[in-house]
Amino acid sequence: EASGEQHEFSAEVGRLLDLVVHALYSEREIFLRELVANAADATDKRRFEALTDGARALPDDVKIRINPDKDARLLTISDDGAGMSKEELARNLGTIARSGTRAFGEELANAKPEDKPSLIGQFGVGFYAAFMVADRVDVISRRAGSEEAWRWSSTGKGNYTISPATREKAGTDIILHIKDDADDFLDSWQLETIVRKWADHISWPISIVKDGEETSANKGTALWRKPRGEIDEEQLNEFYRHVSHNFDTPWATLHWHAEGTLEFSALLFIPGSKPFEFAEPVRESQIRLHVRRMFITDDAGLLPPWLRFVTGVVDTEDLPLNVSREMLQATPVLARIRKAVTNRVISELKTRSKDEADFEKFWDNFGPTFKEGIWDDAEHRTELAAIARFRSSTQEGWTTLDAYLERRKPEQEAIYYLTGDRAEMLASSPQLEGFRARGIEVLLLSDAVDSFWPDRLGVYKDTPLRNISQFHTDLEKFGAPEETAEEKSALEVVIPALKEALGDAVSDVKGTNRLVNSAVVLAAPESGPDLQMIRLMKRSGQ
Ligand code: ADP
Ligand code: MG
Repeated sequence: EASGEQHEFSAEVGRLLDLVVHALYSEREIFLRELVANAADATDKRRFEALTDGARALPDDVKIRINPDKDARLLTISDDGAGMSKEELARNLGTIARSGTRAFGEELANAKPEDKPSLIGQFGVGFYAAFMVADRVDVISRRAGSEEAWRWSSTGKGNYTISPATREKAGTDIILHIKDDADDFLDSWQLETIVRKWADHISWPISIVKDGEETSANKGTALWRKPRGEIDEEQLNEFYRHVSHNFDTPWATLHWHAEGTLEFSALLFIPGSKPFEFAEPVRESQIRLHVRRMFITDDAGLLPPWLRFVTGVVDTEDLPLNVSREMLQATPVLARIRKAVTNRVISELKTRSKDEADFEKFWDNFGPTFKEGIWDDAEHRTELAAIARFRSSTQEGWTTLDAYLERRKPEQEAIYYLTGDRAEMLASSPQLEGFRARGIEVLLLSDAVDSFWPDRLGVYKDTPLRNISQFHTDLEKFGAPEETAEEKSALEVVIPALKEALGDAVSDVKGTNRLVNSAVVLAAPESGPDLQMIRLMKRSGQ
């Protein structure tokens, strides 16, 4: 049905269409993101126009409607937006009006074939993405404030037609004649999944027609962009559940708008419970990056890995919508946002750490992950150590390094700790006996990360951290009890006997005053790895 006026695409559009259609398969679903974004933009535009022209006011039931028709193999995306006049159809859909799309087309043309799919996925190609899934696209549009409607139609090959049409109300229908190999996009459930993933934050209602019924498909309302006073607790919690896949309420909610040299809105949550971890726990931060409300990616690493328990959204004005992965890695904007967001989260944790009972709820869930920060974050290492919580040989519950320092003996020069796999086993370790007998507190560290951070931190408030499996000789400084003559002569017999029996299995056998009830203990040399580290290395085959 190629009636109507024939028009040629501009040369650039022709080339771009060719590239898009042939470049990919795996990322085809982004066509829906692009079309829904256009529908939302057009609705925004009409709202704006209505401010000065009442005749263009939006209908009360304004929405974006996604309607699949399996039998006819048609997928229609309709909006109540500003619509397009005949001239606008030709200009907007027949030429590349945006320099960004043109630049992208060039980049795409020069990319290696294997890089093209991800390029398209990252950039988006606007309206033309429709031709990835459709062998023909009809656009029926009626400009708000006008009576006439027009049909734009193309197979995406060289030309398009424009002919008169009818449309009951102002707005636009994008009608996709779905390709034979793109059945997925005629399935309401699949479409709903795609909308949830890519367009959930669109603030206009989106509905999907399922068995003749319209169902709401988007939850988010770009909540993060609203002033705090306009959002209620329940909306926040619901959004939290959506982004975190948790079902509880957040332990912390951070919502702020940065203005000035850096412009972004952030809405972040620290979960109230530990998320259920799948076989392959995620190691990187999955904060969602949006640019002017549009979802861009959740792997921009907006927070360091040790803050990966934080979920939420950062939405910035300072990046172009068609930002590529390469550009994300290189741009100083992202690095500055990352720094600002990280500092904000740390300062929230510092504030909340002042309330012990409250902070312990956080610590029980994410303490081990948090401690990776002491190891990983050179800039904040000491601040983080100051709010970290620890088990200790003399205290019930959790303690801090500062509380430990207050309790230390006058002659005590170090913070003592012991590492191992299980807290209960540590508490009854023979290594502790000498310290316990002299009333010297020892921190009991039983998380995997505890084998790493104390060395990195090294010193806290001018006090060195020492693993008692290496620094047992420190005990002598605390007035070691004199051995009786009887003990001395016993050792003179036992030590050579043990040396002979153990042979090469140990490097030495020595008398010690660190034991009280146990007969022998295994000790690590002061230089070199501690015992827990040796165990870990053995386990990993080193
Ligand atoms: P972009 O949205 O980035 O401008 P697109 O290729 O997605 O680029 O769309 C090109 C243009 O077509 C838009 O700028 C807009 O003017 C017009 N357009 C696309 N879809 C619609 C729509 N549903 N309603 C009104 N105008 C639209
Ligand atoms: Mg667009």
